[in-house]
Amino acid sequence: MEYKSTRGNIKVTSTKALIEGLSADGGLFVPIEFPKVELNLKEFMNKNYNELAFFVLKNYFNDFDENTLLNCITKAYDDKFDTKEIAPLVKKDNFYFLELFHGKTLAFKDMALSLFPHLLKEAKLKENIKKEIVILTATSGDTGKAALEVFKDIEGVKIIVFYPSKGVSNIQKLQMITQEGENTYVFGINGNFDDAQRAVKEIFSDVQFNEKIAKRGYVLSSANSINIGRLFPQIIYYFYAYINLLKMGEISEDEYINIVVPTGNFGNILAAYYAKKMGLKVKKLICASNKNNVLYDFLREGVYDVRRNFYTTISPSMDILVSSNLERFLYDACGEDEKIIRNLMKDLKELGYFSIPENYRDSLKDFYTNFADDDETYFEIRWAFLNLGYLIDPHTAVALNVYKKYLKDTGDDTKTIIASTASPYKFVSSVYKAITLKEPYADEFELSEELSKLTNTSIPKQIVELKNKRILHNDVIDKEEIYNVINDLLKGD
Ligand SMILES: *Cc1c(COP(=O)(O)O)cnc(C)c1O
Repeated sequence: MEYKSTRGNIKVTSTKALIEGLSADGGLFVPIEFPKVELNLKEFMNKNYNELAFFVLKNYFNDFDENTLLNCITKAYDDKFDTKEIAPLVKKDNFYFLELFHGKTLAFKDMALSLFPHLLKEAKLKENIKKEIVILTATSGDTGKAALEVFKDIEGVKIIVFYPSKGVSNIQKLQMITQEGENTYVFGINGNFDDAQRAVKEIFSDVQFNEKIAKRGYVLSSANSINIGRLFPQIIYYFYAYINLLKMGEISEDEYINIVVPTGNFGNILAAYYAKKMGLKVKKLICASNKNNVLYDFLREGVYDVRRNFYTTISPSMDILVSSNLERFLYDACGEDEKIIRNLMKDLKELGYFSIPENYRDSLKDFYTNFADDDETYFEIRWAFLNLGYLIDPHTAVALNVYKKYLKDTGDDTKTIIASTASPYKFVSSVYKAITLKEPYADEFELSEELSKLTNTSIPKQIVELKNKRILHNDVIDKEEIYNVINDLLKGD
């Protein structure tokens, strides 16, 4: 499969796209075509997660021979996950939660990042790259840890992570700053996720810098969802969820479903959109935002405007105003016209907003969109616990709230999957507050103990183990220093 840039005439193989992450012209890589899939029950009924993964990914990564891809998949989805199902679909009342947090770091980022390093390693072999790969990662809290965990002590790789020092949960922060591994570097920044992502993207497209570090033996890559190695493995679980609905007898063959996704960088919902393009029977994609509701305005009005307040919310992994992956959707919506995309992105950079041409607004109708503020999010966590007997994290609560708004607005009774993106214990202070209506009075570990007793749920062992880990990464830097920090780390010997 070939991939092309959303902004120009660059075309590359999947292995090149995996390594480069972002296209040299600043665009994102998209496949030149989307393989079509027919899900017939007889054939798919007995496929496990790995078999389905292979089926979904084989056309996207056909530069690898099939055994290589199979091996990567086998190594990715194994007992690192705490359930054999990998991504269980949990029915509570009339709600279907697709639990995507059973991997090592307790958020959905593990779903793709468990596979990504294996793909990257094979791509490096195939492209005969001898240079050391430097994974530059901006994180809103969850990607950072998931990427650190899979790349720690991998030979020929360094990983550098930037997180908003005041914009993540304490558990998220602890997970990152206690990261072990000789090749891991973690920096808090005085700024938000957008600042980190912008700085990192600028460095990717800085030709001079890339040439300079190439001479020192380094090549940059990305573990953010701008990388196809992050994005495409996220398609698998939407197919998997559909098959599970079929197997549970909740839908019949060819029945349509809806999918709700709590959205920040537009990666996870784009994967659902791609699943739909591949033929998955999806009626509505429901885009759930928190108070940073720039996508809500865009999907309703066609104008994307970042000239607004940035809010720090209790769903921090969605505290984002500049959603990178929207560019891939726009490319699709605007008839794959890279000139239009270049103009829109230029407007965004220079004016702080863009407006999608009137005649290309049709595909916005694929989406329903709404948002939930913090009070509604707290309410929903409590509601789900009291009414469904189910403990959810704040991001999932945003999705649940928006789904309820959808039900109210439309009365649509189509079976609907809610992407459940993180373990509630990653955001224990907020969850504790929602359930008890009391201010958190102690540290996260004590609160976890209490929440566990109150709700009769178990604390994930990763959280328990965190308590005794040493802090290894103390640095907090200004966003203007990101370039220099990277440059210093990559000094020649
Ligand atoms: C990253 C993340 C999101 C947002 O996903 P995007 O792909 O950035 O839209 C939602 N919830 C959680 C828990 C996350 O970690």
